Amino acid sequence: MVCRSLRRAILISSAAVATVHVVAAANISPLAAKPRWQTLERYQQTITRDEFTRLLQNVYATRDYGDLIEVGADSARIREDREADTFFTLRFAQERPHKLPSQYWRRIEQLGAAPEAKPLARLHVALDPGHIGGKWAKTEERWFQVGDGPPVEEADIALHVAKILAPKLRALGAEVTFVRSRNRPTTPKRPDDFREIARAILAKSGINNPSNSYENGADENKEKSIRWQSELLFYRQSEIRYRARRVNEVLQPDLVLCLHFNAEAWGDPKNPTLIDRNHFHVLINGSYLPEEIEHDDERYEMVRRLLSRTCEEELPLADKMAATFARETGLPPYEYTTDTVAKIGSSGYVYARNLLATRVFRCPVVYFEPYVMNSNEAFARIQAGDYEGTREINGVQRPSIFREYAGAVADGLAEYCRDIRTEGHVPSRP
Ligand SMILES: [Zn+2]
Repeated sequence: MVCRSLRRAILISSAAVATVHVVAAANISPLAAKPRWQTLERYQQTITRDEFTRLLQNVYATRDYGDLIEVGADSARIREDREADTFFTLRFAQERPHKLPSQYWRRIEQLGAAPEAKPLARLHVALDPGHIGGKWAKTEERWFQVGDGPPVEEADIALHVAKILAPKLRALGAEVTFVRSRNRPTTPKRPDDFREIARAILAKSGINNPSNSYENGADENKEKSIRWQSELLFYRQSEIRYRARRVNEVLQPDLVLCLHFNAEAWGDPKNPTLIDRNHFHVLINGSYLPEEIEHDDERYEMVRRLLSRTCEEELPLADKMAATFARETGLPPYEYTTDTVAKIGSSGYVYARNLLATRVFRCPVVYFEPYVMNSNEAFARIQAGDYEGTREINGVQRPSIFREYAGAVADGLAEYCRDIRTEGHVPSRP
């Protein structure tokens, strides 16, 4: 679940952090490191002007990037540092280069032919079940309970899906690792470690005597408290940044699948609103907002991601996996009502969006957001738990929601890989 109000708060927070010197260098988003532009030197003359402009306009900076990037005839001049007025010059290739700089992940087509039964042979897939869960589920606002029934915890059910998915992918030939395999934080930090940063963020927003804590999740003033801001820095920023270290430095997979369940505003977690809408969408990195591109670190990550061509792998993969998922689950596409995304691809289910995980995991990332947990349909299926075969749920025979999710992800990835790796295989069409 990507909650809109949280997202807005982070945007406010990151803008606020910009001028607070105790927090980080100027114009850097929360807990980010100062960008190292010199690491992009290896991408000199690895992209043509046409391709750079196409990716910038259609995928990454779909709105505006002001004077931060100036595209010339032979090179692009990219502002490195908003305050120091320094620039990175990227020289374009004259023709499409045959070889790209090496990176830790491999494109699926580079893995060579694979037998029909093992289409994922030699592919390393890392599974990233969303959120932390356990004792943090309520803090993360990924918990609700109807009456005396078992509570719905996104982190827990996402992990359950990952544990069903892993053996399916292994049976198809993949190497599978977990970015998170328990309901425990990856980051060694805790909310209290961020109290000073939280205080600085609030001060920048004009809140100079913030309350230490808040009453409960329904407290309207919670966002103005040190506790809420510290918690956000813990589970939203620090946790994802530590997961990124694990992905980029330890696991180094060819692909990360982020597994979430979606939800719409449910109000009081002890008396949640259940709704009739159920839907599905998939996210890949892109569509940076102008205020995000303003941040030196986000602009750097955006350009790095563009140059590493993750999108060439992510987009067709996401499109294929989304089409298969939609076919198997019958879920309609989610239509965003905010302008934080750009619809992309041909399935109707894929959006580009700049989430921290899709930005800082430096390999192709496909981010799943199926099922509205607080829809009547998904809620009943989650309450039914995991089971073999089908059961009648609200008058319809249904498989377990966890097995349906895992099965649809595995089938989509297998179909994609068979299409490009299995000789004589007739590509399936969505
Ligand atoms: Zn989520």
